[in-house]
Amino acid sequence: MKVMKFGGTSVGSVKSILNVKRIAESSNEPVIVVVSALGGLTDKLISASKLASSGNRLYEEQYQEILDRHISMIEEIIPDGESKANLEMKVSTMLDQLKNIFQGIFLIKDLSAKTSDTIVSYGERLSSLIVAALIKSAEWYDSRMFIKTETKLGKRTLDKELTNELIQYTFSTIPQISVVPGFISSDKETGDVTNLGRGGSDYTAALIAAALNADSLEIWTDVDGFMTADPKVISAAYSIKELSYVEAMELCNFGAKVIYPPTIYPVFHKNIPILVKNTFNPEAPGTIIVKKTSGDNTRAIKGISSIKDTCLITVQGLGMVGVIGVNHRIFRALAESNISVFMVSQASSENSTSIGVRSDDVVIACEVLNTEFEKEIGMGEINKVTAETGLSTVAIVGDGMKHTPGIAGKLFGTLGRNGINVIACAQGASETNISFVIDSSSLRKTLNVIHDSFFLSPYQVLNLFICGVGAVGGSLINQIKKQQEELKSKKGLKLNVVGIANGHFALFTRDGIPLDNYKELLTAKGIKSSPKIIRDEILKMNIFNSVFVDCTASKDIADIYYDLLSNNISVVAANKIAASSSYENYKLLRETSFKKGAKFLYEANVGAGLPIINTIDDLINSGDKILKIEAVLSGTLNFIFNELSETIPFSETIKKAKEAHYSEPDPRIDLSGKDVIRKLVILSREAGYRIDQEDVDKHLFIPDDFFKGDIDSFWKRLPQLDESFDEKRKEMQAKNMRLRFIARLDNGKASVGLEEVGLHNPFYDLAGSNNIILITTERYKEYPMMIQGYGAGAKVTSGGVFADIISIANIR
Ligand code: ADP
Ligand code: ASP
Ligand code: MG
Repeated sequence: MKVMKFGGTSVGSVKSILNVKRIAESSNEPVIVVVSALGGLTDKLISASKLASSGNRLYEEQYQEILDRHISMIEEIIPDGESKANLEMKVSTMLDQLKNIFQGIFLIKDLSAKTSDTIVSYGERLSSLIVAALIKSAEWYDSRMFIKTETKLGKRTLDKELTNELIQYTFSTIPQISVVPGFISSDKETGDVTNLGRGGSDYTAALIAAALNADSLEIWTDVDGFMTADPKVISAAYSIKELSYVEAMELCNFGAKVIYPPTIYPVFHKNIPILVKNTFNPEAPGTIIVKKTSGDNTRAIKGISSIKDTCLITVQGLGMVGVIGVNHRIFRALAESNISVFMVSQASSENSTSIGVRSDDVVIACEVLNTEFEKEIGMGEINKVTAETGLSTVAIVGDGMKHTPGIAGKLFGTLGRNGINVIACAQGASETNISFVIDSSSLRKTLNVIHDSFFLSPYQVLNLFICGVGAVGGSLINQIKKQQEELKSKKGLKLNVVGIANGHFALFTRDGIPLDNYKELLTAKGIKSSPKIIRDEILKMNIFNSVFVDCTASKDIADIYYDLLSNNISVVAANKIAASSSYENYKLLRETSFKKGAKFLYEANVGAGLPIINTIDDLINSGDKILKIEAVLSGTLNFIFNELSETIPFSETIKKAKEAHYSEPDPRIDLSGKDVIRKLVILSREAGYRIDQEDVDKHLFIPDDFFKGDIDSFWKRLPQLDESFDEKRKEMQAKNMRLRFIARLDNGKASVGLEEVGLHNPFYDLAGSNNIILITTERYKEYPMMIQGYGAGAKVTSGGVFADIISIANIR
């Protein structure tokens, strides 16, 4: 025989309750069906009784809802006939009794524990009668007759032995289908109705299964089994095929609501397998819980669970060191006050013991401990006991952690990189559970990041904030959109764009912004945008594995990098301003990134998508030394000097460069050499030299006074230069030479300038907007290393940015 328990949602709607009938009737072996109250009913009974006892007439409305729900359920599922009439009579008698009780407490404005227990018992009593009438030839049993509780030292517990005997007696012969109300019980002395605690129907079922040596215990609920985490919090949670009793127990004790914690022990003791199934999806295999799991132990961690409202009490003081009996006194005092401790952590220096308790218990717990240690506190040996509140406790669980080094390292490393501070932690010697305490504001982030990092997720997630949706940002979003599916299915990487901002609007959505119509969404749903707003919103979102992608050319945006990196958010920049800012600022950003384990990447700052910065880094990290860099680093300037011809004057070439998105949004940045200077500064720093923009020697080709005034007057005056450039062009043609704007780093000295290069110079043939860089190092001395290719343009630049983003995910 087997025992099947159906939870509140399983009996909560017409559709689900008909599934219950089908599932129970299709069993070949005898079944005992244990049912909860109709979904949400226990809560409703409790809230109606609170209203009534506080003299609030609104309880009547709630009562009416309770009544209507049962009556209409019967109406819809039970066919007319004698048994329906019978059921209706029983149900309306009970509902009348319930009404009278509510009226009673409304009049006397008092709600005793005994009355409250009576009221909540109606939920299961009513639902079980309905299910018994629905299922063909089912027999109804009253669990108050065989689940017996007793009260010891003011605490209600189950009388296990008596319960066991009574269950065996009641079911000495077992019909094909029996129906039993879960949750409710009665006091063995007084016979008063009691219960097994919220969620207790699972326990009723387990007690029956264990007493009768059932072949299995099935827990039917509203999800596809025991999952890697609460699916209401982690959308990527999925059901676990197999769990050991120990794993299930650890997860339930730490808040996995799917099974009421005491449920597992009785069946574990009898080695009865538990099957967790979905009433709404009976075909899904669900989860089997057994003593020893057979198959997939490749994952050390099976699941994560958490308890939200926890507090941490720390007893500490130098006077505790080496003193025998302090812990004994802590736990004795708490136990005498009936306070349950769910986590303990003690440093080996013995000068502090931290204890995790529920928020409900914290005030009394502190009082109890301050009284217990009054003398020691008075003498200064122990500090006054205080509590930290607003915390959550998280547990990661898996038998496979045993003897597997590196789990704790990975766990705490991952949390650290995401800026999550661990306040206390504990791991028992059984090594199946590591628990730790964090601030509640980081709970969601913590659960997500752990779920992601321990490959409980089928893929890892990078959460991206993209700032700037002009040529480069827009092209990046298109590339991400095209590549998203491929990266997810082939590389297990999910790119989730959770924020997009331009100069006017900013949009943030945890679940990801659909990239098909982000522009419309940004305008329609975005909030006002400013660097400060963007920074604050990102920090407030506190989302895991996050990367800020700067596709602007704004200094104010570059100024928020420090705050982002300090909060463990990686930064990928197409914007060159930060990496070429003052050496102090550059150093600060690099150091912050290093300290926080957040990446600060800007490969696209130089040579668009060409692998220049990474190459220099690889050379340096592998012990080479950069002796010289010679390069054409401006796609715009190279394009201009290549375009210059009889028919295209100088001023025209600049317009063309702008239209092709080669130039900076303001082309004066290119023409003044500033863009190349920035790039050279960045390269020099990567090569290990301390260089600022002012240190770069420059030989420019446009008179300084052209850069004074606004951009319109610049465009207007520009044609004045056409003639002299045409002269220069003719001269070059005659000499068979070409103009190139060259950046050099030689012996630690940086310079930029327009140079004439001849046929045999490697820069002579550099076409279009291409870049070229020659790197002379100790290893590449006689023949320098050469990197050449497209050096400007939205597509290649955004490609470089994309590559940086992907490198953070480390999927190679
Ligand atoms: P029932 O009414 O069937 O007893 P519960 O609401 O008590 O159902 O338990 C099922 C719920 O438990 C799920 O809907 C889910 O939100 C929650 N839950 C929390 N942690 C887990 C987990 N690890 N696996 C499955 N469900 C979980
Ligand atoms: N109906 C009870 C509750 O809501 C018991 C249960 O559903 O298991 O807590
Ligand atoms: Mg439950």
